[in-house]
Amino acid sequence: MTGDRVTTGDDGEAVERFRTLLRIPTMSNLDPSLVDEAAFAAYRDALERLYPALHGELVREVVGGGSLLYRWAGDRSDADSPPATVLMAHYDVVAATDEGWEHPPFGAVVTGTVTGSGAQTSTGQLLWGRGTLDNKGSGVAILEAVERSVRAGLRPASDVYLFFGHDEETEGTGALAAAELLAARGVRIGLVLDEGGAVVEKVFPTVERPIAVVGVAEKGTSSFTLTVQQNGGHASTPPRDPATNRLARAMVRLAKHPFPSGLNAVTARMIATVGAEGRDPLRFVFTRVGVFRPLIVAAFERLGVDTAAMVRTTMAVTQLSGSLAANALAERAQAVVNVRIAIGSTVDATRRHLERAIADPLVAVEILSADEPSPVSEMDGPVWELLAAAVSETYPEAIVTPYVQTGATDSRRFAGASRTVYRFSPFEMSTEERGTLHAKNERIRVATWLTGIRFYEGLLRRL
Ligand SMILES: [Zn+2]
Repeated sequence: MTGDRVTTGDDGEAVERFRTLLRIPTMSNLDPSLVDEAAFAAYRDALERLYPALHGELVREVVGGGSLLYRWAGDRSDADSPPATVLMAHYDVVAATDEGWEHPPFGAVVTGTVTGSGAQTSTGQLLWGRGTLDNKGSGVAILEAVERSVRAGLRPASDVYLFFGHDEETEGTGALAAAELLAARGVRIGLVLDEGGAVVEKVFPTVERPIAVVGVAEKGTSSFTLTVQQNGGHASTPPRDPATNRLARAMVRLAKHPFPSGLNAVTARMIATVGAEGRDPLRFVFTRVGVFRPLIVAAFERLGVDTAAMVRTTMAVTQLSGSLAANALAERAQAVVNVRIAIGSTVDATRRHLERAIADPLVAVEILSADEPSPVSEMDGPVWELLAAAVSETYPEAIVTPYVQTGATDSRRFAGASRTVYRFSPFEMSTEERGTLHAKNERIRVATWLTGIRFYEGLLRRL
């Protein structure tokens, strides 16, 4: 890992700007009336103050009610110029209170000390706060990189757009508005880079090198309701088969009928790429995906929850409701099933599977929210190569591989406009650190955040 002393110089000032932005509680809420609009406005104002060179050079628009879209005009903006690049992040964060946090979520506390020099320098420092990883970390690193590039007199060959969403954690309307606006203006889009994968370690058996996982697709996130209606009544004289029992049976049947498993092209490519760096006998198997496909699928199903989610559509019953009173029968028993639809499948096929598995016409299966899986971006070609080269320049040790993301991002809004939509946060994240996403004690190593700025700087030089 590269890293300079962070308490002084440009990097020290960058960290202070990041801390200023982390302290602004831009918390998302599904109920718009509970969103603190003043915090979002304060964040947007702070950007103008903190990044004067960027705001002098780029044109900024507020879109979709609070998202920010910047255009950095390239050297060439004619019809034959290469397509534009979109660098994305979101500045809304998941709600948090002080409860359970070692350091307050909006305190931007730095712990650990700077010792030594050179490569060993700042590894001891941690920056704590909501949004450090998800996703102000990426957004502010992009701003730092562009500010530095503008100051250095750099100008990209073709247009670069920066997009910072204000409602990624809820509806993603800002990203939709930006994608529609650019489409209406006839902007041709090449590389789109949003949050997603990261540089991870020790996730693949026998592979010692770090792995930079770049999302080339994301599963579809949808929810279904299972509802059983019945005449109510007093709980003292229950019918033979109350609505709640029928619903419970439906859930048991679902558990017994998982979605079919298989290996999609992206996961197969990931296994072959990463497996080549492992040790035999795993290396032997993983580099022959075609031959050992059934064996690999079976192994992934058992290895852990992360690998199991790679080989099929997953489902989880997340909410249950019945009667409002302890002594009344439920007139309506309902379960919400959250599904993550595998690429290649559809919302419709998912619904049919649920209905077939439950096999009970008295259990109504209805769509609560529907999002199809994204298309799969290119895993070869100049744009993929450009991104992979930028990752390798910053993380020379890392194996760069495509993968399918299980979570949804704003970037899916651009999937119709570009075949090169990628999801990668240029930071090293341990398993434990990834576990703080949407949870308490979210934090980032200061050194890796600074490395992320260098990644975006390097990427901008290649555009
Ligand atoms: Zn996020």
